[in-house]
Amino acid sequence: MNEVSVILSKVRDEGRKALLEPEAKSICRAYGIPVPSFKVAKNEDQAITFAAEIGFPVVLKIVSPQIIHKSDVGGVELNLKTIEDVRIAYRNILSRIQESKPGAKVTGILVQEMAPPSTEVIVGAIKDSQFGQSIMFGLGGIFAEVIDDVAFRIAPINKEEARLMMTEVKAYPILKGYRNQPALDTDALVAILVATSNLVMENEHLKELDLNPVLVYQKGATVVDARIILE
Ligand code: ADP
Ligand code: MG
Repeated sequence: MNEVSVILSKVRDEGRKALLEPEAKSICRAYGIPVPSFKVAKNEDQAITFAAEIGFPVVLKIVSPQIIHKSDVGGVELNLKTIEDVRIAYRNILSRIQESKPGAKVTGILVQEMAPPSTEVIVGAIKDSQFGQSIMFGLGGIFAEVIDDVAFRIAPINKEEARLMMTEVKAYPILKGYRNQPALDTDALVAILVATSNLVMENEHLKELDLNPVLVYQKGATVVDARIILE
């Protein structure tokens, strides 16, 4: 069995529908979708060891099957620059979770490379009972969520279709570059869109996939949060 089937059968065996962030990211990585390096720590000392291995600054996040929106419950700590920062963040996350989600089972704490801030985009996939898998693209923040500036395509999509769908969103000039804003790496986004299409086409039982946000740079792009829901 390959890595992806191993993860998916473990999730099914445990009777879960939602993948944990490290599971979703491992699947993304198996399809060539870039993600920051990460490890799941089981205790505070391990979190510190992993942070040093990954390199500062790092991010810590709660990993729990009962917690879907991690920052809503105080489960995300960004830009941790030292061992001391990691120690404090680790304790703070666990105590906030104990207060806001007392019953939640904590699988561990995700220690992740901190991606430099940049323009955020969203890549999604959703399975429709009639049309099958479709792929969504939009810019992050208010663009996708408030003004609904997103583009859809029925999967599978190739590079040309991915590029075309990107140019359809009204916010596209932000990616293409304008005035003194440099152009961002749209080729890297095209590659992520095509890889996402491959991922959902080869795994028919995926109901929803949400790469939100994807940070895009002048060179490269990386997926800092990934959610996958099974049928
Ligand atoms: P949530 O479950 O609340 O959506 P996220 O994993 O998306 O949690 O984290 C919340 C926000 O923190 C993200 O939208 C992003 O802006 C930032 N973030 C998360 N992980 C990273 C990372 N590895 N590097 C940089 N920023 C990150
Ligand atoms: Mg998120």
